Amino acid sequence: MKQTIYLDNAATTPLDSEVAEKMLPFLTECYGNADSPHAVGRKAMVAVDRARDTVAECLGAKPSEIYFTSGGTEADNWAILGGARAKRAEGRTHVLISAIEHHAALYAAETLEKEGFEVEQIPVNSGGRVEMNAVKARLKPTTALVCVMRVNNETGVVQPVEEIARLAHSVGALFFTDCVQAAPHEKLDVKGLGADLLSISSHKLHGPKGCGALYIKSGVRIEKLVGGGEQERGMRGGTLNVPAIVGFAAALKKTAQEMDEARAHIEKLRAAFLLGIAALDGVKVNGEGEEKIPAVLSLQVSGVRNDTLLYRADLEGLCIAAGSACASASVKPSHVLLAMGRTDEEARQTVRISFGNQNTEEEVKKAAQIFVETVKSLRKN
Ligand SMILES: *Cc1c(COP(=O)(O)O)cnc(C)c1O
Repeated sequence: MKQTIYLDNAATTPLDSEVAEKMLPFLTECYGNADSPHAVGRKAMVAVDRARDTVAECLGAKPSEIYFTSGGTEADNWAILGGARAKRAEGRTHVLISAIEHHAALYAAETLEKEGFEVEQIPVNSGGRVEMNAVKARLKPTTALVCVMRVNNETGVVQPVEEIARLAHSVGALFFTDCVQAAPHEKLDVKGLGADLLSISSHKLHGPKGCGALYIKSGVRIEKLVGGGEQERGMRGGTLNVPAIVGFAAALKKTAQEMDEARAHIEKLRAAFLLGIAALDGVKVNGEGEEKIPAVLSLQVSGVRNDTLLYRADLEGLCIAAGSACASASVKPSHVLLAMGRTDEEARQTVRISFGNQNTEEEVKKAAQIFVETVKSLRKN
């Protein structure tokens, strides 16, 4: 059987086996509802409390500032909808959001627009980076919320979130940053970043799927999104997903502990892949000249359609992405690449390779070989 090489770690990552082991008791004997005031429930709540402490510690936050969610998508929706709606009471009805956000964030902003908010997009430069002047020029005394992600999921470009937070605060707006792609690769510090609201997701850092967290800075009031139960200090209804929360915290902790080694390893993988495809002409790295995480490599391959390349690479056992996972089922070219000034055609020639800690150099060398051969054969036709 052909070996599968998985280079789509920005879409999701494999569950770490140590993390899975830590989850196991909470899938079996420790089945309690964390809100039940009896022994079985209390046992589950102790585990959730520990997990909350761990997540808080990894972010430089207080445990009371961490709210567990069903993932990055829910955390993004909650931050944007809840933050803006709460600010409306102060007469603030203007929202700024970068043009390169994840669909979860863009969707929430569209919802706000339907509710009467004025939503403005912040453009990016050709490297995919939000520029300070673009933010400054759009801020208003009525701005409720500014939303800029830390690391873009299609290009890996790191955004100057600290300065943007300062600008947002200078007009009294809330600042939200989606750190779902940053958390696997960068030590996060909520205070250093200047975030009022910050989202992370478990499955992007070798934790289980369907779990994430929203950081809400103490003193910041936002409206709830999911109601109906008094869980999470009355702010997020729903029985807690105890096994996932335990796994998420364990994965985040392991990520923090192994970050430097992982980064060095991933840098090596990236270099090996780039070396392996060096002989291929007509390939451009997106985000050139900008600060990027090494794990995400966005390549524009001239003369080849990304959907065809993805399909053909898959037949050879190589898993990569065209744009992002969420957009790849649609026929629309990536909004991120269009915002960077690429044409529809250029956007459709772009693939994303994303490396993970579990990938080996040998795998990546083989992947580069497959990539080169596939592109060459597609260009012949
Ligand atoms: C994956 C991702 C999300 C969504 O997180 P889920 O846990 O999959 O819902 C949000 N933002 C970014 C930047 C992502 O990469």
